[in-house]
Amino acid sequence: MKRILKLSGMIHGIILLLIISLFGVMMIKSSNFESKQFTAERSGLLKSIELDTSSIADRLSGSIKFQTISYPDTTKFNDTAFSGLLDYMETIFPKVYSHLELERIGRYSLLFTWRGQSESLDPIVLMSHFDVVGIEEGTEQKWKYPPFEGQIREGYIWGRGTLDDKVGVIGILEAAEQLMSNGFIPNRTIYFAFGHDEEVGGMNGASLIAQTLKSRGIKPECVLDEGGIVVSGMMPGVEAPTALVGLAEKGYVSVELTAKSDGGHSSAPPKHTSLGRLSKAITLLEENPMPADIKDASEQMIRFLGPEMKGPMKLFFANSWLTKGMIKNQFSKSPFTNAMIRTSTAATKMSGSETENVLPKISQATVNFRLLPGDSIKDVLAHVRNTIKDSTIDVRAFSMGIEGGNEPSPVASVQSESFHQLQKSIHQIFPEAIVTPWQLIGTTDSKYYNTMAKDIYRFVPVLTTDEDMSGYHGTNERIAVGSYIKCVEFLMQFMINMDE
Ligand SMILES: [Zn+2]
Repeated sequence: MKRILKLSGMIHGIILLLIISLFGVMMIKSSNFESKQFTAERSGLLKSIELDTSSIADRLSGSIKFQTISYPDTTKFNDTAFSGLLDYMETIFPKVYSHLELERIGRYSLLFTWRGQSESLDPIVLMSHFDVVGIEEGTEQKWKYPPFEGQIREGYIWGRGTLDDKVGVIGILEAAEQLMSNGFIPNRTIYFAFGHDEEVGGMNGASLIAQTLKSRGIKPECVLDEGGIVVSGMMPGVEAPTALVGLAEKGYVSVELTAKSDGGHSSAPPKHTSLGRLSKAITLLEENPMPADIKDASEQMIRFLGPEMKGPMKLFFANSWLTKGMIKNQFSKSPFTNAMIRTSTAATKMSGSETENVLPKISQATVNFRLLPGDSIKDVLAHVRNTIKDSTIDVRAFSMGIEGGNEPSPVASVQSESFHQLQKSIHQIFPEAIVTPWQLIGTTDSKYYNTMAKDIYRFVPVLTTDEDMSGYHGTNERIAVGSYIKCVEFLMQFMINMDE
């Protein structure tokens, strides 16, 4: 008995020692989890320029008045609004329009070339789009100020496009106009690429601009497009605003499932109709999502955000070698973070018989997948077939009515000089913010540069509150005047930094 007690005492001792050692290792990892943030002063030019904030705000406000809405139905395209906006931009940015080369591509999209003095430096591309989404029917009355007047009230510029993405187009041109007014001449060539159809896929805008640049053998050092923003309160344990720099965007494919059966009257049905078989397939797909992984952009996010967290949260993220499974579980709980770590599954459409008492001959369903870098459309199709295990259901991949889909983007580097300069620009203009890489969950026009740019970063320097966030494609879209000024300053700073 004594010996058994002694043995169990020893085992307890060893376990205790192991726990203490493990805890010790975790503590060491946590204390070595070094911050990747730094401080940087604004460059001399930005310190000396006095910006006339009210006229800068007025110029963005003026652009909101043109209803440059992209409709899936192309017959609704409003030429007057688009050409009106282009004329307006020419009048408000005289220096840019008289000194930069301008090409009009694909009807209304614009490619500006700000020719650099050095031919040995690869150019950069600053992208944005000036089409907007419409106003959802029935929500017009909910806008505090009308969506297409660009009113400046309560410290905000209100209206559709203030965040997505006239802020980019007008902001980039404003930054260039200000730099030119202060004698800045770039060494490195800078392109401004503005699409007019991003909200409906960018096929006639950004796609054609990218093809034009590619045909000229241009390999951009980096591309900067919309995507991440500066947000507060997104990550538990991080109090400071977080600047989300999109390193990668997801792929896109819709999978159409088709089940056939004999049809007939519904009074003597088989056990499962074609619609019933499809329903089972969809349930299986929802219950068996593609596997999650913390890698690439999400892994970098942990490396950048983790050291800024407090106490147990920092300990948790510093030891991702041990806690990876728990992190995946935690991320899987919310739709937003779940989409960052796996290829997402969304059943969106279904059809069967047109008549209630007739069995469907053909039933169809569509499941939309957003692919995480590392997964391919081929992987998705294999996953669908293996999961539904029903060879009588046909499986077809398409995107916006066309065969196939978009593969996910490559993952941009955090080691590159461009990333360093981007991070530096953020610290210079938003000294309070923490910069972190991020996995974009939507898609942008920058996808057309996937095969030609060294690195693509997706970031609009807009400081956004929870309340402002609902404005993206929603009601009461607005940008704080102060936030827009910082956006212009950031763009000026980034162009200066990339020129060093
Ligand atoms: Zn956009």
